[in-house]
Amino acid sequence: MPKFVYDFTEGNKDLKDLLGGKGANLAEMTNLGLPVPPGFTITAEACRHYLEHGTLPDGLAEEVNAHLDALEKAMGKKLGRPDDPLLVSVRSGAKFSMPGMMETVLNVGLNDESVHGLAAQAGDERFAWDSYRRLIQMFGKTVLDVDGDLFEDAIEDVKRARGTEDDADLTADDFKELVERFKTIVREQAGREFPTDPREQMDLATEAVFESWNADRAILYRRQERIPVDLGTAVNICSMVFGNMGMDSGTGVAFTRDPASGQQGIYGDYLQNAQGEDVVAGIRNTVPLKDLERIDKASYDRLLEIMETLENHYRDMCDIEFTIERGKLWMLQTRVGKRTAAAAFRIACQLHDQGLIDVDEAARRVTGDQLAQLMFPRFASKVEGVRKLTKGMNASPGAAVGKVVFTSERAVELADQGEDVILVRRETNPDDLSGMVAAKGVLTSRGGKTSHAAVVARGMGKTCVCGAEELDVDVKAGTFTAPGGVTVNEGDVISIDGSSGDVYLGEVPVEDSPVVRYFEGELSAEDGGELVAAVNRVMEHADARAAMAVRANADNAGDAARARRFGAKGIGLCRTEHMFLGDRRQLVEELILADGGEERQAALDALEPLQKQDFEGIFEAMDGLPVTIRLIDPPLHEFLPDLTELSVRVALAGDGADPKDRRLLEAVTRLHEQNPMLGLRGVRLGLVIPGLFGMQVRAIAEAAAARKAAGGDPRPEIMIPLVGAVQELEAVRDEARGILDEVRESTGVDVPALVGTMIELPRAALTAGQIAEAAEFFSFGTNDLTQTTWGFSRDDVEAAFFSRYLELGIFGVSPFETLDREGVGRLVRIAAEEGRKARPGIKLGICGEHGGDPDSVHFCHEVGLDYVSCSPFRVPVARLEAGRAAI
Ligand code: PEP
Ligand code: MG
Repeated sequence: MPKFVYDFTEGNKDLKDLLGGKGANLAEMTNLGLPVPPGFTITAEACRHYLEHGTLPDGLAEEVNAHLDALEKAMGKKLGRPDDPLLVSVRSGAKFSMPGMMETVLNVGLNDESVHGLAAQAGDERFAWDSYRRLIQMFGKTVLDVDGDLFEDAIEDVKRARGTEDDADLTADDFKELVERFKTIVREQAGREFPTDPREQMDLATEAVFESWNADRAILYRRQERIPVDLGTAVNICSMVFGNMGMDSGTGVAFTRDPASGQQGIYGDYLQNAQGEDVVAGIRNTVPLKDLERIDKASYDRLLEIMETLENHYRDMCDIEFTIERGKLWMLQTRVGKRTAAAAFRIACQLHDQGLIDVDEAARRVTGDQLAQLMFPRFASKVEGVRKLTKGMNASPGAAVGKVVFTSERAVELADQGEDVILVRRETNPDDLSGMVAAKGVLTSRGGKTSHAAVVARGMGKTCVCGAEELDVDVKAGTFTAPGGVTVNEGDVISIDGSSGDVYLGEVPVEDSPVVRYFEGELSAEDGGELVAAVNRVMEHADARAAMAVRANADNAGDAARARRFGAKGIGLCRTEHMFLGDRRQLVEELILADGGEERQAALDALEPLQKQDFEGIFEAMDGLPVTIRLIDPPLHEFLPDLTELSVRVALAGDGADPKDRRLLEAVTRLHEQNPMLGLRGVRLGLVIPGLFGMQVRAIAEAAAARKAAGGDPRPEIMIPLVGAVQELEAVRDEARGILDEVRESTGVDVPALVGTMIELPRAALTAGQIAEAAEFFSFGTNDLTQTTWGFSRDDVEAAFFSRYLELGIFGVSPFETLDREGVGRLVRIAAEEGRKARPGIKLGICGEHGGDPDSVHFCHEVGLDYVSCSPFRVPVARLEAGRAAI
């Protein structure tokens, strides 16, 4: 039978799968000799069993008994004993941090008797009754599903009766009254008495924590953060220490470095005479951690010492939760801290400079997603014509502009209508998650950098300004007021700067980020500041380590040039159909309407020089690097007018209809397909419309010859789309080779060109051995390969039902975004292996959207592709991930 319970002395930081992050790190700190209140962890495996079967696993109760016994012995107290009770906290803690998403119950073990014991022991009746009412409140809300507002309303009532607005003015008698009121609320709402048996409290709280894994907000958070749905959470049972035992007690959070910038220093918040949830909820305003030096020097010094120990031990920035109970410091949690993208790059380089990590590890510590965040535009440095409303804390960087909303529901509603919104709240709580996801940015008037809003926004990479205390937010009225009496209503546009904390009324223009300017070559690594220098360092290392090249998907000289500046080593996909739009649509229409060979030829002859010009530009921009040009792929109706519109036009015109419209209508009707993506497109077009592919190949060959004659070094690769059988490819290849030879002879210029194919149909993947006989390269078109493997229409299904599939956990992320390793990936592997077997050294790449997706890039590395190709803006991301995949 598996072991379901681990004492803190038994675990370690590497057991996160089993003990969750919190449990593993409490164990690690215990073993480091740091002051952790004794306790034990019930594993996530027990949770998974509970969620699957609805019952606790056999043997768990006995194991918990044994560990509780040991804990009671160690503490010299018994859980809930009337004269001197042991109290415990019951805390969730999954493998991946999900701040505030799951449940915690504190002060377990209190009841009508033990509250007196606690009062006597602490010599503080008020504290004991305050702790007791907190237990009933948390337990009622979490375990018994009672509406939390009822408790808050009761507190407000009592405060009103006492004529105060401050919790601190409430007396022991007030809390006694609240205990009675809370018990009544529980009885009325939950239909049962608040359980007074301490062990029953502990067991019910444990089950509630297990169940909170499937709370709506937890599900939403996991989807957002791509955390697997079936991990479950561990439960930590930890002996209580109290931050609310008077002014020599308190609770706080600390970072070993600034999570926003990465600077070393003292960062965190402290709250005197309070319990942990008061800080994270942002309910009361904290003081900066630095002030603790003045309040309690000995604890402050010890905390700094511990922070250094932890940073050296974890070799990373850590965040910490601690409590001081009557001058004694206790560590309640640590973990490698969440950080902004900029801080991640800076910290990785700083730790490398300090000799704590090597350069490979520095590259491992940053991600392509973080780099992508750094490439987002930011507010222009000179802001004119907009009014600055206030400055809050720069909690999570970025520039967000949108309409003000005050509730999550409204945020979701407007975002669904395509509006950009900023969620403005006094503070956020975990129920606001859907609104935070929907909003472009979050602004709060209360709470520090470690408040819920700040922590969650940072995790999501969402812009956040918090603790803008000058703002008076009135959610009910749907307004906030700023200094100077400015009132902002729902729907007004504001701009928030998560890097500076500035809040503006109106729309502030945005400008390129310095990281983009560095990639563009406008800013050198030396002149760009610490962040750019860090990015440069990591990128240089990633490039040196990468086994795969990164190319770009680009259809014009401008994009090609930008991609090259961003580090692309060629073009992996030039979609030629994009060159057939705009003014040229007319020529394509003529081609489609052509009555016979002559008319068709005339249309092709008109298109060819235009295509040649396009290719010359691209070859020039990518001089010396491979350029893969894909022959025309989409169904022809895409170049013709819409069937319905045209039918109406012709019908309305009656006898007077334009004859050309009539011919067009006839052609559109003829070409109409029920499933155009599976119809006449790709290589099929090339085989059905004589001369079309030939014209394109000639334009490529002539453009290459012209570039070479002009001293250039063009490297064309001609790519045939949507091949399913080698015979299709052979026919087109032979035609292409013939034309290449002709152009060589007519121009007297020899430009070698590869001819290859896309692998984007399951049949192509499965017969890749045969196809490789005729193909000099493969490029995996994983957009179509995903569509055809799953039988999902890539144009329709995402909107139609993917959100339901994500909800049900059928996939964790859309397979059009991240390559489905098991299905589509398997086909890629088969094709790569068989292709190589038939043609050793065959060049292999990918040009579907997955080429710029970090996880998919790692997959491509594992399969041993030669390159990935993605949109120009993603090129740096793919470079970084290609390097990280090789480390
Ligand atoms: C693909 O199918 O993956 C591909 C790159 O081609 P397109 O998206 O143009 O169909
Ligand atoms: Mg395709």
